[in-house]
Amino acid sequence: MPREDYEAVMGLEVHAELSTKTKIFCSCKTTFGAEPNTQVCPICMAMPGTLPVLNEKVVEYAVKAGLATDCEIARDSKNDRKNYFYPDLPKSYQISQYDKPLCEHGKIEIETSNGKKVIGITRIHIEEDAGKLNHDEFSGGSLVDLNRAGVPLIEIVSEPDLRTTEEVEAYLKKLKSILEYIEVSDCKMQEGSFRADVNVSVRKKGDSNFGTRTEMKNMNSFRSITRAIEYEIDRQIDVIENGGKVDQETLRWDEVSGKTFSMRDKEDAKDYRYFPDPDLVAIKLSEEYIENIKNSLPELPESRKQRYLEEYKLSEKDANIITSSKYLSDLFEKAIEICNNPKAVNNWIISDISRILNEKEMEPNEIPFKFNELGKLVILIDKGTISSSIGKKILEELFENPKDPEQIIKEKGWIQISDETQIKEVVKKILEANPQSIADYKAGKDRALGFLVGQAMKETKGKANPKMLNQMFLEELKK
Ligand code: ADP
Ligand code: ZN
Ligand code: MG
Repeated sequence: MPREDYEAVMGLEVHAELSTKTKIFCSCKTTFGAEPNTQVCPICMAMPGTLPVLNEKVVEYAVKAGLATDCEIARDSKNDRKNYFYPDLPKSYQISQYDKPLCEHGKIEIETSNGKKVIGITRIHIEEDAGKLNHDEFSGGSLVDLNRAGVPLIEIVSEPDLRTTEEVEAYLKKLKSILEYIEVSDCKMQEGSFRADVNVSVRKKGDSNFGTRTEMKNMNSFRSITRAIEYEIDRQIDVIENGGKVDQETLRWDEVSGKTFSMRDKEDAKDYRYFPDPDLVAIKLSEEYIENIKNSLPELPESRKQRYLEEYKLSEKDANIITSSKYLSDLFEKAIEICNNPKAVNNWIISDISRILNEKEMEPNEIPFKFNELGKLVILIDKGTISSSIGKKILEELFENPKDPEQIIKEKGWIQISDETQIKEVVKKILEANPQSIADYKAGKDRALGFLVGQAMKETKGKANPKMLNQMFLEELKK
């Protein structure tokens, strides 16, 4: 059967670390990157006789996430033990939720090149993260760091509604932006606070049954997720085309070879021997509690987008890019408050800032400068203190060494030359050096003017006021 007759099916389990100050069952800190085993206590180290106490913030954040994704919130919920051994899981079980998750039956709307599509959210539940193994290349052994043990997570499980890598990426980005907007997770992928288990299967187009899925765990970059899915779809089709059967298994994606490798047979729920955690009380939520959280939800990306279309007349595409990240969206709004020039701020974000983020493979939330610096940059250009080409240099500098743009200008000597005699001198010099361009212009080749202005800009290292240059060249050329 030709490959085009196959269809891929994907479902994602996303783990997001919650940005609570303390862990889920003890009062240890959750700060990322601390010295190993400095944020631990007898509870998260699983000493015998210790008892967990549920952090109320965790419930609040999970309910927030549920409400923001149109889930039903359980009035009656509980914690369960998921039993398995792993060296970084000292209790030998993980406290999670099994048959009574906090949130169920939600949805997220995504946008793709084929239009809008709704992706179902099966459930959102709370659980604890495990510790971390550091594989020590010198000793040949592995060292356990329990700082992450007990950091609160929500797991967001999607329905198997995704069909293409484009849909998967759109879904992940939308989910990430929602969590950022409601401020329950910083979603820093490079720090592992937003990671996805990717389930993939293939079937004949038109079939109503799903094929057997494989699962790739803990993926934390959009690029590797796309590559891994594409590889896995191909591999599964090959297996079927060669008369074989896809095994349900957990795979490891290897970024270097660009292949998946089998890790273990996929376990089923029954293998975990789930049972209600007897150390924790049931979670009962009142109508009032849920209502209060609903009322505290901030404006979500969809509504911000509509506002940008109407208030600032942004294009649909620009509004999508800016609202896709709360950081960009906040930067946009706050910079406008300072410079009152939405069009310019929009342009900076869509063109230069996006380009630099891309080049540096950075996430918007890693932008090192603040909204007031961007706002001031726009003002300096609007006032004519600097040209927009100097503006670009300042932006590059803001990424390297963020500080007040005026300070940067002073230190670098980048003030725009708007002094008439100075500009006139440059114009004269350039005209003298380029008699051919003068002849060209007089022969009707307008492009010659652009060339001359370009030369003058080069001569002044981008500091000459382009408007004045243009004007003065025109005056001279018309003589
Ligand atoms: P587990 O924890 O055992 O992986 P879950 O039910 O929590 O099981 O998650 C299963 C995930 O796999 C869901 O996101 C679901 O949408 C997805 N999924 C289930 N069946 C398929 C399939 N045949 N093909 C692709 N994805 C699937
Ligand atoms: Zn602790
Ligand atoms: Mg899974």
